[in-house]
Amino acid sequence: MSSSKTAATNNLEAFWMPYTANRQFKQDPRMFVAAKDMHYTTSDGRQVLDGTAGLWCCNAGHSRPKIVEAVQKQVAELDYAPAFQMGHPKAFELAARLAALMPSPLDHVFFTNSGSESVDTALKIALAYQRAIGQGTRTRLIGRERGYHGTGFGGISVGGIVANRRTFGTMLTGVDHMRHTHDPERNAFSRGIPENGAEYVEDLIRIIQLHDASTIAAVIVEPVAGSTGVLIPPKGYLERLRKICDDNGILLIFDEVITGFGRLGTPFATDFFGVTPDLVTTAKGLTSGVIPMGAVYCSADIYNAFMTGPDHMIELFHGYTYSAHPIACAAALATLDTYEEEGLLTRAADLAQYWEDGLHSLKDCPNIIDIRNLGLIGAIELEGIAGEPTKRAFSAFLKAYDEGLLIRTTGDIIALSPPLIISKDQIDELFTTLRSVLHAID
Ligand code: PMP
Repeated sequence: MSSSKTAATNNLEAFWMPYTANRQFKQDPRMFVAAKDMHYTTSDGRQVLDGTAGLWCCNAGHSRPKIVEAVQKQVAELDYAPAFQMGHPKAFELAARLAALMPSPLDHVFFTNSGSESVDTALKIALAYQRAIGQGTRTRLIGRERGYHGTGFGGISVGGIVANRRTFGTMLTGVDHMRHTHDPERNAFSRGIPENGAEYVEDLIRIIQLHDASTIAAVIVEPVAGSTGVLIPPKGYLERLRKICDDNGILLIFDEVITGFGRLGTPFATDFFGVTPDLVTTAKGLTSGVIPMGAVYCSADIYNAFMTGPDHMIELFHGYTYSAHPIACAAALATLDTYEEEGLLTRAADLAQYWEDGLHSLKDCPNIIDIRNLGLIGAIELEGIAGEPTKRAFSAFLKAYDEGLLIRTTGDIIALSPPLIISKDQIDELFTTLRSVLHAID
């Protein structure tokens, strides 16, 4: 090996890190080497309280014995099985359990390997379904500003994050965006669901008037937009969205990659809001982050349109080498067992008030312009420093890491979504640390 090759493998250069300012990170790297329950262990031996469930995914906490054992057993027994024209029992068992967890009629499950794949799968199913029922003119897709739907071309097209779009130029054509619902002027420091802003949904009516309903296939929204700063839908917004879609033959997709698997105190956000979409995308908490896996739920109507449709539609020309991967299925089944045995899918409901009170107690810290929460998710919005829109929150992130707490930041917003196993004492610890961090930064 040449000496430069050796250097590359021994240093940090080779790994091009995702969504990370590589140069900055590599000057001052932060490494986790182990994790257990609510804590990470850093490479210098410190314990860090996980305030974000990894990246909104480790809902059962870390290295939980049942999940670890299931993965170990599965890899030794059946490491891989093709999902095209072949099956293995755990895929069917998992799909049936997931279907039972989701309200009817969302009874069918298509497996993917990530949230991004789930989103692109749902968009493709929506387009194919419209064709299958003779509505092939419905090709437009509607998303929302500040929506995050992963990194595939479908996802960044319907997504509404400027940086994720402008870097790449070409997007899907025929995509419109509704406005987001973030309205701090009227809703700042709302506890739970904000009162104001349901009228933003009328943007969909404007888009329908512009293009005609007969051209629109589907609308996709996150029930609670997570990655862009925990934007909670105003009262009545999702109900009205469902009604407009119904009146116009438009499919409604909920992206529940973050809200799925107990984040709001119900298994899914669709349960929490009592609004049932036609398709639901999930990932993350499905395996508690242990093995990459995603799942798209669809209604019986959609599934049956293919099963009984024209011959060329009977097979959906879509799928992944690792769809329903046996190890991911084993991890997901053990995760569901853990959620059930420990009551984790409803635990956020029990802790929600305590969480809300703790979070809003930070209101008197410096530079805070909004605090919002729902279930076991929350955000603290900081006043940006002129010309440096992410600096203040990122300083908080670095300081929190030093003080033993993992938070996530987006722009000048701190986002929190701890594992659902968090105790009240750990909630206290989280907010005590955060209070000291917020006082320590400029
Ligand atoms: N949709 C939503 C709502 C998400 O929050 C995310 C990830 N944060 C994704 C899609 C993409 O998931 P992944 O990173 O697993 O592709």
